[in-house]
Amino acid sequence: SKHRKIAIVGARNVGKSSLTVQYVESHFVESYYPTIENQFTKQLVLGKNNYTLEICDTAGQDEFSLVNTKSLIGVKGIAIVYSCVNRASFEIVELVRDKIVDQLGLETIPTVVVANKIDLRDAQGHSEVSQEEGAALAKELGAGFVECSAKQNVGVDEAVGQLVMRIEGLDAKG
Ligand code: GDP
Ligand code: MG
Repeated sequence: SKHRKIAIVGARNVGKSSLTVQYVESHFVESYYPTIENQFTKQLVLGKNNYTLEICDTAGQDEFSLVNTKSLIGVKGIAIVYSCVNRASFEIVELVRDKIVDQLGLETIPTVVVANKIDLRDAQGHSEVSQEEGAALAKELGAGFVECSAKQNVGVDEAVGQLVMRIEGLDAKG
């Protein structure tokens, strides 16, 4: 099977760990050590290929912090997560991506922008970031876009699947 390393990045408290644990272990964790970086491994079958995904659930970024450079070694794609009920987490998406691309010394990196906590938006009837804004930013970054709820396990497999497709060059969509 092919080994691929991906990183889950974005602001603190957006649900990076919840999404990762939901993806890997199929359950929702109410709270996870917020400052700790975790590595997970998961098998994925995509078409005829078997992948061993190494998933780095990062500790969370802000305007001033970088992802630990060591954890980025070998990363082939990133999921940048924001919370649709937290505007500030959306506003640093581009910055986080720029910093990672810079740290890796690349021009670009396969990316999926993930809008998490859509269950809260649906329950409250409003969000701080609209679906259209999220999709527009993703398009601008040349990234994929997936709306998710780690809590209700909505969109989680799709987000990772889309990212691996992008890494493999299997997704023609801009
Ligand atoms: P991280 O700091 O980005 O890793 O965020 P966590 O995964 O630790 O989640 C932060 C908080 O948001 C926790 O209280 C989670 O239970 C909660 N959370 C994460 N994802 C969701 C979601 O999809 N819906 C709801 N309602 N809460 C979520
Ligand atoms: Mg976390």
